[in-house]
Amino acid sequence: MKKAMTISYEVGEGLYLNLTNKCPCACTFCLRQNGDGAYGSDPLWLEHEPPFEEIVADLEKRDLDSYKQIIFCGYGEPTCAFDMFKKVAAWLRGQTKTPIRMNTNGLSDLINGRDTAPEFKGLLDAVSISLNAPDKEEYNAVTRPKFGEESYDAMLKFAAEIKKYVPDVMFTVVDVIGEDKIKRSQEIADSVGIRLRVREYIPD
Ligand code: SF4
Repeated sequence: MKKAMTISYEVGEGLYLNLTNKCPCACTFCLRQNGDGAYGSDPLWLEHEPPFEEIVADLEKRDLDSYKQIIFCGYGEPTCAFDMFKKVAAWLRGQTKTPIRMNTNGLSDLINGRDTAPEFKGLLDAVSISLNAPDKEEYNAVTRPKFGEESYDAMLKFAAEIKKYVPDVMFTVVDVIGEDKIKRSQEIADSVGIRLRVREYIPD
């Protein structure tokens, strides 16, 4: 396992932020199982979880206005570094008008032990939540969350709540789950009133 201090990295027209390697899940498709980076990035395993000053020093080297989007993502679940995310997102709001998104597993409430959706107010333009599966059993088999049974419902509740605080909310599933599960995932997404994005699974 190669480690580095890759706090930000470019993929396409986006700037991705890597704040933490913590995650309560062990998804069967997680890129972290296949290598040390994502889509040609430097290693995303962090030597240490960066403090605010180190993140700002990294981002000050970037032309933040030049990206289509800035995305909290990385080799871990961003809401595992929730306080740092909030601080960095608020700082970014003062630096650039570039839209900010988070890619999350949607388990923030279980990770942080409270209803966290209101704390996102004003910080994000978009949030992409990994739905991963059309039901609890399949979700647990694929995502393997340490919180067990309550995870799927907690993720759906978080998704429904965060719509009040973030303008663009989407669910994602990967295309390899197959047509039937995509169809049933669409029904779940419709029931929560959130659009579904079927993304191509590209193992790094
Ligand atoms: S939630 Fe994301 S980082 Fe965590 S195991 Fe799943 S794919 Fe990997």
